[in-house]
Amino acid sequence: MAESLRPLMGDRKPDANREAHTSSCEEGWPTGEPAKHRIFDDAENTPDGRPGQRRSLAFRCAAALFLCCLMLCVLRACVPGSSVRRVTPWQHPADSPGSASADGLYLVGVGKADITGPVVEINLMGYADPKQVGTGLRQRLYSRAFIVGNVEKPEERFVYLVLDTQSGDTAIRYGILNGLKDLGPEYAVYSHHNVAVTGTHSHAGPGGWLNYLLPQITSKGFDRQGYRAIVDGALLSIRRAHETLQPGHLSVGTTKVFGANINRSLFAYLANPEEERARYNASAGDDGSVEKDMTLIKFQRASDGKNIGVLTWFPTHGTSLYGNNTLIAGDNKGVAAYLFEKQAREDPTAARGFVAGFSQASVGDTSPNVLGAWCEDGSGEMCDFETSTCGDGRSQSCHGRGPFFEADDTGARSCFEIGRRQYEPAWALYRQLQRSPVPVRGGPVRSFHAFHNMTGFSFLLPNGSEARTCSAALGYSFAAGTSDGPGAFDFTQHSGNENTTSPVWKVVSHLLKDASPEQRACHSPKPVLLDVGEVHKPYDWTPNVVDIQAFRVGQLFIIVSPGEVTTMAGRRWKEAVRNASAALLAAEPPRPLATNASDPTTALASPVVVLGGPANSYTHYITTEEEYAIQRYEGASTLYGPHTLAAYINRTLSLLSYLGAASPPPPSHETLGLFPPDNTNASLSFISPVIHDSPPLGKRFGDVLAGPLPLYRRGQDVRAVFVGANPRNNLRLEGTYASVERLQVRRGEDEAEAARLPERWRRVRDDADWSLVFGWRRTSELLGTSEVEIVWETEEWAERGVYRIRYFGDAKGWRGDVKGFEGVSTPFTLV
Ligand SMILES: [Zn+2]
Repeated sequence: MAESLRPLMGDRKPDANREAHTSSCEEGWPTGEPAKHRIFDDAENTPDGRPGQRRSLAFRCAAALFLCCLMLCVLRACVPGSSVRRVTPWQHPADSPGSASADGLYLVGVGKADITGPVVEINLMGYADPKQVGTGLRQRLYSRAFIVGNVEKPEERFVYLVLDTQSGDTAIRYGILNGLKDLGPEYAVYSHHNVAVTGTHSHAGPGGWLNYLLPQITSKGFDRQGYRAIVDGALLSIRRAHETLQPGHLSVGTTKVFGANINRSLFAYLANPEEERARYNASAGDDGSVEKDMTLIKFQRASDGKNIGVLTWFPTHGTSLYGNNTLIAGDNKGVAAYLFEKQAREDPTAARGFVAGFSQASVGDTSPNVLGAWCEDGSGEMCDFETSTCGDGRSQSCHGRGPFFEADDTGARSCFEIGRRQYEPAWALYRQLQRSPVPVRGGPVRSFHAFHNMTGFSFLLPNGSEARTCSAALGYSFAAGTSDGPGAFDFTQHSGNENTTSPVWKVVSHLLKDASPEQRACHSPKPVLLDVGEVHKPYDWTPNVVDIQAFRVGQLFIIVSPGEVTTMAGRRWKEAVRNASAALLAAEPPRPLATNASDPTTALASPVVVLGGPANSYTHYITTEEEYAIQRYEGASTLYGPHTLAAYINRTLSLLSYLGAASPPPPSHETLGLFPPDNTNASLSFISPVIHDSPPLGKRFGDVLAGPLPLYRRGQDVRAVFVGANPRNNLRLEGTYASVERLQVRRGEDEAEAARLPERWRRVRDDADWSLVFGWRRTSELLGTSEVEIVWETEEWAERGVYRIRYFGDAKGWRGDVKGFEGVSTPFTLV
């Protein structure tokens, strides 16, 4: 296994820890480990584009970039295992009886792998605040892969990836597709058409991996280490799903999720037609301003009927952890997946290596800060409804409040709670589908993907009038940020314009490019602040070429959106696809029944349409035209003008026939010849590497500097401080920086005696666990000294007993050599 993983590592040195841990997945928990401890082990858990910019040009532009950086850095906005059981990849038996997929038999596979990039010294991606720099790790990040295929035509399949990242991305996607090619002919079945790279929209992951310059600015450019972690982990997750691909069934259901999202731009939402809003106004608790529906697909293998995973869609922003959080985590979706997978380990109907994907949906105007946006200025007032400003007329003190906003914990408790509020209904629905399956059935497994240039795209609206999109630009309210992450300067949502803004921003926008009168007219009524789509130096700042993609299995249709779609925009997109797909299904001949089918129904069910994203790239926001006219943050961040949504719908519908049972495959990308640039090797980087690590005089790496105390009560925080080294030296993928070990004492045995036996200490928490927090701080830049603080926020349900904390570090010597070391705390008792 370790050997076969190597091709996935690219040019990175093989990560011994990843390999070792992977093999432990195969072999399971150490012998003798009681089943109850297993719940803590989360381990199972240009391509031909525009020519890259020459470096000389890049460096000529570096000075200009820095100037931009200085000013733009203050932009604060929302830019921006599987069991790996080795089975022979499934082959369709030549004598398969009848039409197997007619009774809902598909190829199904799931996989999960670690994608945690550097957890310190790198800017976090999402809030675009250069001051928000990683200081440690609360929860490892993962790629979760779901593959669905046609048993009759195994080449018909798709991969839906859910990454614990802010979004999908063009460079990441190129990296994954190239990596799949390198895996050999067996993986040639995966291509642009059938691979979707979605992000959960967590704002608590490291940045620096994105393809375009704008989101790279606050991270000081491109970070290759973090980029490789995501690409390699995504590939490993696909590989694990691919290797376990086998016949199975899909079941689909929908449930309501309450208390996990509100609309943060209600003023803009209310601009949508009243009769349209009324269609979704179900009750006081479900007034339609956000979608409360969660759709869930249950994956069940046919061989023994065990469930292997779930994939869900529900919209709420990954902003439960606030802009002052500096610990890496998967935000509320990461929590929901963690809780589901933990519970699945105790479910007898769930297979080992169960994977739970919590995918983002129409997230654009949603917020997990469900108590609303308040002025944190002592006034006790809510922020202004239209502009999200406070008494001083500015947006800086306006903050969304999560359920536990009073806790001074950078949003951690609220984050866990919003995750729990998604996990619980998802689990209930999973159990219900186990009792009463609603099968995905009939029809083929199809997919399409196309690149589309939004610059000057003319098309007809449904009412027959002509519309046009424009190259990307951001409006003034973009710089105001949102109540989940307010902007830093004098921008307000909705009311920003050229006359009321500070001279600084006028200079920045002119540095970029003065938007032409045509460009201004095209984006109207958006006042253009940053004409990013027309600037190509040193390389593209934002995408103009976008991804249009959709998948189909049976009656389920998945729209894969590259932007953050608002609630109503998502509904319009889904409705258009639902209508077109219903027509598609009606035109398909009834499928023959499987030989053993007892259900006499041959007609397909009505289509179920979901929307996942931000995926494949990051094209900021997609609002309705009415919301666009309001120009709050989401409207100002809708890149291609007022007809952005209509253009996405138009392009999706133009390709939808490729999801039909009898349609030919979609045209190859090489034929069409349009590719967005791959800036992986063209991107600038001003991120400094680790120079070296040293222990303080008289100390060794891993020595305990403080704590823990001898005794704790459950609910208290246990702390231990070690002589540390920079965790960027080794990402410890598929491994851990920290663990909690519990002493196994036999009846009548002396505790101190047992504690001397290494085999009696069993790991019960690691980096995958929300409650175990790994923190790192540099104590001397010059000497290269640093400390690690590991905190176990003991749970009320933790077992009583004797524990200790272990730290896994890696130190870099002056010659660049990296050596691993460990530190172990003294034992402590938890009562
Ligand atoms: Zn967002």
